[in-house]
Amino acid sequence: MAVGNKDTTKAIVAIIVIILAVGFLIRYNQKRSQNPAIARDREVITIDCETGELCKVTQKAEELFPLKNPKTKRMTLWKAYICHDEQLLFPKPPEVQVRNCPFCNSNNVGAAQTKHEKLPTKMPE
Ligand SMILES: [Zn+2]
Repeated sequence: MAVGNKDTTKAIVAIIVIILAVGFLIRYNQKRSQNPAIARDREVITIDCETGELCKVTQKAEELFPLKNPKTKRMTLWKAYICHDEQLLFPKPPEVQVRNCPFCNSNNVGAAQTKHEKLPTKMPE
């Protein structure tokens, strides 16, 4: 009987250790997935695809375009692109590659940066 009791105690200790280990692993993985060390929030220049209005917003690390317009609460903010030849900004539809300006067809285009926020915006037809 004495041996049986010892084994029971060992089994209970083993179960407690396993529970603690699993709990630790779950917490560790949660911390890792929430780690903001690589991706950060950043200011981006966007254009509301309905109104053509330029809007500077903070894009959170996990957010994808289209972003929510803080004024209208609608998901209408597209990433702003710049045509360097014409010095104007236009909205880039989400999940569409833009290699040419929709107005002058120049390939001198790229993602607009916050320093471009004073440029005029133009909406494609
Ligand atoms: Zn252009």
